[in-house]
Amino acid sequence: MAKCPLCGTTLNWAELIEQMLPIDDAQAIFKDKERFMGAFESFVFKCPTCGDEFYGGNLPRKEAEKVFDLLNEFNGSIDWEKRRVRLRLNSLLALDMMLEQWDKKVKG
Ligand SMILES: [Zn+2]
Repeated sequence: MAKCPLCGTTLNWAELIEQMLPIDDAQAIFKDKERFMGAFESFVFKCPTCGDEFYGGNLPRKEAEKVFDLLNEFNGSIDWEKRRVRLRLNSLLALDMMLEQWDKKVKG
């Protein structure tokens, strides 16, 4: 799971994504994976625990891609008016990783 590169606290993906929602043209960017990944990697996030700032490029790209997929898979995953993420992204990511490992075990 993504951790703050400075203090090592596990980050809440919903909270990270909420930091990105006010960017220009966000609604269009959040529908286009390439644009989303570009915006994500160059976005300056602020850690809610230590208050330090870091680029999205420091976080695991695979998780960010999965987060994009999850947000687009579920209707109404983002409340644009309140700028809130309605999905529990960390739980969904954990579940997804678990299934992936189980899949590997079965096929391996
Ligand atoms: Zn931190």
